[in-house]
Amino acid sequence: MSFPQVDPLDWRTIQPHVDALLVAELTPATADAWLQQWSDLASVLYETQMRINRKLTENTADEEADQQFITFVEQIMPQTRIATEALRDRLLALQAHGYTPGPDSAELLRRFRAEASIYRAENVPILSELLKLGNQFDKVEGGLNIVWNGATETIPQARLHWQSQDRAERETSWRLVMAAHAAQGEKLNELYLQMLAQRRQLAGNAGLSDYRAYKWQELARFDYTPADCVTFHDAIEHEVVPLARKIYTEQANKLGLGALRPWDTDVDPNGEPLRPFKDVADLEAGCYRIFNRVDRELAAYFALMRDGFLDLPSRANKAGGGYCEAFPVTGKPYIFMNAVGTHDDVQTLLHEGGHAFHYMESRRNPLWWNQNGPMEFCEVASMGMELLSAPYLASDHGGFYSEADAARAYADHLRGIVTFLPYMAVVDAFQHWVYVDAPEDVTAADLDAKWCELWDRFMAGLDYAGLQTEKETGWHRKQHIFTDPFYYIEYGLAQLGALQVWRNALKDQQKAVADYRSALALGGTRGLAQLFTAAGGHFAFDRRTVGELMALVEEQLGLLTDKTHD
Ligand SMILES: [Zn+2]
Repeated sequence: MSFPQVDPLDWRTIQPHVDALLVAELTPATADAWLQQWSDLASVLYETQMRINRKLTENTADEEADQQFITFVEQIMPQTRIATEALRDRLLALQAHGYTPGPDSAELLRRFRAEASIYRAENVPILSELLKLGNQFDKVEGGLNIVWNGATETIPQARLHWQSQDRAERETSWRLVMAAHAAQGEKLNELYLQMLAQRRQLAGNAGLSDYRAYKWQELARFDYTPADCVTFHDAIEHEVVPLARKIYTEQANKLGLGALRPWDTDVDPNGEPLRPFKDVADLEAGCYRIFNRVDRELAAYFALMRDGFLDLPSRANKAGGGYCEAFPVTGKPYIFMNAVGTHDDVQTLLHEGGHAFHYMESRRNPLWWNQNGPMEFCEVASMGMELLSAPYLASDHGGFYSEADAARAYADHLRGIVTFLPYMAVVDAFQHWVYVDAPEDVTAADLDAKWCELWDRFMAGLDYAGLQTEKETGWHRKQHIFTDPFYYIEYGLAQLGALQVWRNALKDQQKAVADYRSALALGGTRGLAQLFTAAGGHFAFDRRTVGELMALVEEQLGLLTDKTHD
């Protein structure tokens, strides 16, 4: 790799490098070197964007970063798009002239071809329009709040009441959150129907029968079909829903309730929430010890990041949420989060640690696009790391807790995986219907009815009696449905991969971690099926695969419950 010397905020210094690539001799013999040169330029631009993003999220009041962001978005990004288009077409044209990509770039070419196949100039303004509609949705959602004891609370703040041991507090806050959404119901219906029309237009312009076919290309879903998703939904209905129902029943029993209402799911029936650490130095040190138990070399990667590539504590003027990003020129990943002292924070750092290890293992692939990997597999890296870390949560094993509390956190994690999958199926199946089967003149009432039907099919064990409106408008409360259509089943598929890594580790920890690491190291050079195989699993979502994993989860939950009582 040799990164070009440019001023990444001044396109005049970048254009000569693009021009050089556009006129350079490109033959099957020179293609690899040419691609590397392009990748190195792309790395510089990506790192620039991520450094600006890092500054902005670390300090939302950083005015210099704000200016750089505007320059990047207005001057660099549009030019980058044009350049990418031209360079990609040049490479794809070479394929027509007998160029066969090597094994490490075949997947990349397949992704380029899919992007090119749906590109239509007339879709560019529609895509911008959709971004604006998405922005309007963000505004509606971000503007929602409730009034609690005279003070205004955001929805994330309001949801904290759902963890209260006081049932009346939970119910009142739940109803207030529902009412806040309901007040914007008309607006949300209108926005979604507008988005639907625009998305159908995108697909039509690209010559495709429906938006799902369009999205399949855009998301580079080469290794599974819509029919596979239906298989997965069916497997969840038969193999996961019964266990989820059991978990809800246990929750109701522990709380001493006859039926579990929607405001009873977030409260911990074992008592007050875990408080694993006082300051982030403890969080960082504890996770390092856990990573060290999982694998010494992975822990060594984390140690490298402790030198300025972790920003963990919550503080004023810091953006919300958590993420891991790679800096391909510096060659290091970076983790950002907002730790306040909860078990969720531990879970977040273990999760983001998995993403960081993915980058560190895969950066040996010289092409930037081949570092990390397909979305579905990125989450195997992170969710897999959460599960590989789970046995070490007790302080005797490196972690934070007593044996009983560690078992409680581990069991909660497993229960969360089980109850997530049916909800994921509702979100996914709903969108298959909307974009393929719904009538041309579908109405908001039709959407509500479909959501309700799917809710009844997958969400057994929750009592919604008397809450019909709240139930049928559930799709209003899922951001992905509005702003990231079809992007959700990734989490379900990845969880199946992560569970298989975990299953292997229960039998042979060292081999499971070795397989996990070699799959991570492949980056984006292989398709999903091959990556799952390399990780020691298989890429399948039939009843048998899902059923076996659920049986294992249930068995382990039983063992953990015994430990919680110690
Ligand atoms: Zn993640």
